[in-house]
Amino acid sequence: MTQKIMIKYGELTTKKDNINLFLKTLKQNIEHLLKEEEITIEYDSGRMFITPLKNNFEDILNKLQKIFGIHEIVICNELEDNNIEQIKEALENLIQNIEFKTFKIETKRSNKNYSLKSPEINHILGGLVLKNKEKVKVDVHHPELTIHIEIRLKKSYLYFDTRKGLGGYPVGTLGKGLLMLSGGIDSPVAGYLTMKRGVKLEAIYFESPPHTSLEAKNKVESLARILSSYQGEIKLHVINFTEIQETIYKNIPHEYLITIMRRMMYRISAKIAYQRKCKILVNGESIGQVASQTLTSMNAINMVVTIPVIRPLACFDKLEIISLAQQINTYDTSILPFEDCCTIFVPEHPIINPEISKCEEYETLIPYEKLIEKAIQNHEEILVTKNKQQFEDIL
Ligand code: ATP
Ligand code: MG
Repeated sequence: MTQKIMIKYGELTTKKDNINLFLKTLKQNIEHLLKEEEITIEYDSGRMFITPLKNNFEDILNKLQKIFGIHEIVICNELEDNNIEQIKEALENLIQNIEFKTFKIETKRSNKNYSLKSPEINHILGGLVLKNKEKVKVDVHHPELTIHIEIRLKKSYLYFDTRKGLGGYPVGTLGKGLLMLSGGIDSPVAGYLTMKRGVKLEAIYFESPPHTSLEAKNKVESLARILSSYQGEIKLHVINFTEIQETIYKNIPHEYLITIMRRMMYRISAKIAYQRKCKILVNGESIGQVASQTLTSMNAINMVVTIPVIRPLACFDKLEIISLAQQINTYDTSILPFEDCCTIFVPEHPIINPEISKCEEYETLIPYEKLIEKAIQNHEEILVTKNKQQFEDIL
């Protein structure tokens, strides 16, 4: 009997056409995110099995719980044979060390030619448990212990300990997207939800030094690092937005500052996305959250690009977003007080219903195409990995 980790990937099995790509990507992602652990991985129809070569089960389980595309993670006992006598002997040994008062047996046969049917196996093994443990009872509705048996073609598996995986699709199966990552609460959560749908992310951050501080940039890098733990690393494009922002500030009526500034951010993001083969932009906009996120504003801003803009949080309440941010561990970093470029140039009365014709008219007042080209040419690329310790001390 060997202890292994069994991976179940529920949602994937419904995607028949793509299954090979999904499995290949999932396996690659597991190998990549667990590269510091010594493991081997095998497939067996509908399951993946990980054999830890050192006794590092807990480390591996913790890392597997951050991999999208995994539905359930199980520590299982593999028997070389699926003979019922062997299963009985193994179960008898295993339950000796477990305390429980109620139980049920759940059998799954992927080997449909097996001589016994699932209810018969449940019956035989249930009888065995009742004989071996004093005072235990069967409870099929709320058992303290569920004893799982899986009968496969040659081997069989016995397990009790199942943990939920993150679900979703393996990162990368749906291609790449570019996340507009600010230092706020929303955009990291939007990034997380997009990765969960199988999209690998690069990120773009607009900074305006000296109006924005190095701490603000470090904070964004820290957020990117937290997100990178779901995909191995993340490329962060840092755009120096100072000249564009100051030019807008000097030349354009202040109620339109934010609208025009965001149109510039969208234009630059779309160009970087094109260069980097990202098929979508992703951001943390949520309908009605601020003046730039009314429907009229979103329309005036969005229309400068043709690339699809995905807004995973469009219909979330702030409290729902905060609770997700806490779950994925970005919240404490997001609420650090360093200003990002939006907050500095915020006018007292930003327009709620900007007119497209006015946006276009005001934009003729500035040489924005030249400024955009310059900002893109000079932009900085940072490969953020989980091991880069830089600046983590200030948090
Ligand atoms: P967040 O929405 O992430 O909490 P925020 O509230 O400061 O940050 P908003 O003004 O609501 O940002 O902007 C909406 C979205 O636009 C953000 O979620 C983010 O995707 C994008 N965005 C805003 N500022 C920046 C920036 N400086 N760099 C990159 N993306 C940005
Ligand atoms: Mg926001």
